[in-house]
Amino acid sequence: MADFDYDLFVIGGGSGGVRAARLAAESGARVGIAEEHRFGGTCVIRGCVPKKLLVYASSFGEAFEDARGFGWSVEGARFDWAKLIDAKDAEIARLENIYARNLGAAGVELHRCRATLAGPHEVRLCANDRVVSAKHILIATGGAPFVPDIPGAHHAITSNEAFELPALPRRAAIVGGGYIACEFAGIFNGLGVDTTLLYRGEKVLRGFDDDLRDAVSEEMAKKGVRIRCGAEPVAIDQGAGGLAVALSDGESIEADLVMFATGRRPAVAGLGLEAVGVRLTAGGAVEVDAYSQTSVPSIYAVGDVTDRIALTPVAIREGAAFVETVFRGRPTQPDHALVASAVFTQPEIGTVGLTEEAARAEGDVEIYRTRFRPMVHTLSGRDERMVMKLVVAKADRRVLGVHLMGHGAAEMIQLAAIAVKMGATKDDFDRTVAVHPTAAEELVTMRAPVA
Ligand code: NDP
Repeated sequence: MADFDYDLFVIGGGSGGVRAARLAAESGARVGIAEEHRFGGTCVIRGCVPKKLLVYASSFGEAFEDARGFGWSVEGARFDWAKLIDAKDAEIARLENIYARNLGAAGVELHRCRATLAGPHEVRLCANDRVVSAKHILIATGGAPFVPDIPGAHHAITSNEAFELPALPRRAAIVGGGYIACEFAGIFNGLGVDTTLLYRGEKVLRGFDDDLRDAVSEEMAKKGVRIRCGAEPVAIDQGAGGLAVALSDGESIEADLVMFATGRRPAVAGLGLEAVGVRLTAGGAVEVDAYSQTSVPSIYAVGDVTDRIALTPVAIREGAAFVETVFRGRPTQPDHALVASAVFTQPEIGTVGLTEEAARAEGDVEIYRTRFRPMVHTLSGRDERMVMKLVVAKADRRVLGVHLMGHGAAEMIQLAAIAVKMGATKDDFDRTVAVHPTAAEELVTMRAPVA
């Protein structure tokens, strides 16, 4: 090992890279890590964390309205975007410092610059064009927003810029129907922006259970988000009254802000992968085996750059499994089965396991579903429904999927995911006594299948 400058060099200081670097260093490895932007990566700097803060901010308007039904008078509530962004920036800076400090405390050498591959064991540090050597290299460069190549696309922003806007627009058009588009539609709408969601398909959130897709579309629309399906921008022009967005259905709309949330792509450009022989998939991600090893044996990759499941906790698990495999002598494959996730739409979604459609393709199922008005809205008067659905295998009664929409769905799904991961059956759910009065109790009180 002494022939190399490092035992491990990590390119990219996001969730996956930082976890791997810390754990490897704690195992006694000499570790270096390079990050060209800010430690913490997409999740901490311009993703999950600031997004959730913005979701909280955007939900107060409704909370003030709902409070009236409980006897409160809430007058003169005003919102200040600049104050929110300052507070968010301070929190992100705090977290970034913690990341860097923890790396340093573990003995990891930090390089605040871009790094590229110069060989199977060589990394070029772009700040001073110095080449360092490492027994193992981990690529953890994440992803970057993809923007379709249409005329005037440069007038639009992506989620990267959405966190830094100097002021809120009056009218926003958000393009896409995935996680980011739906979450930001809720954020802008909740903060009083006239919001239109433009989605090329028939129904937002492709890949999620249809009942959730329908329910969340309906609730978002009730809150004021204009959802236009079957339409996507074909050109954007700067007009006198704002941005003129020409749509594929022949119509056009005006907006002050257009945001593309049309997916993310692995960040591989300029890394020198091809020259070193690291193979890419057809979609342009780094190709890895079940142990995150690339086609070059000394080089591994984790997180969004590999295009497995693009979620922070998954990248963290992949980073940890890589360290177990390479530095602790315990070959470990990251487990990508039954990964729960939440979409912080308003209302939010929590989901784990198979959708009804996917489960039916595999065998006979029973569907348990309930749609109800949560207790809080009996007094608030808000017309909002919660949806809970269990997909159960007919043969052995195993719960194959849990799909939730409503307040607290993200918190609930984390716990339901443990049961599903353990192989719980519908009878296990039934045996569990309800916690009353909660919304979650419905999960254990659905008696008769609806399909
Ligand atoms: P998604 O893959 O979730 O959604 C992309 C959307 O853009 C889809 O609706 C897709 O449409 C549409 N789209 C793709 N290409 C085009 C195009 N050329 N023209 C028009 N529309 C297009 O990506 P996101 O960017 O929303 O998020 C990236 C990933 O980050 C997510 O998949 C998720 O893994 C992760 N993430 C997780 C979050 C969470 O856990 N809460 C929050 C945010 C992101 P179609 O459906 O027709 O393909």
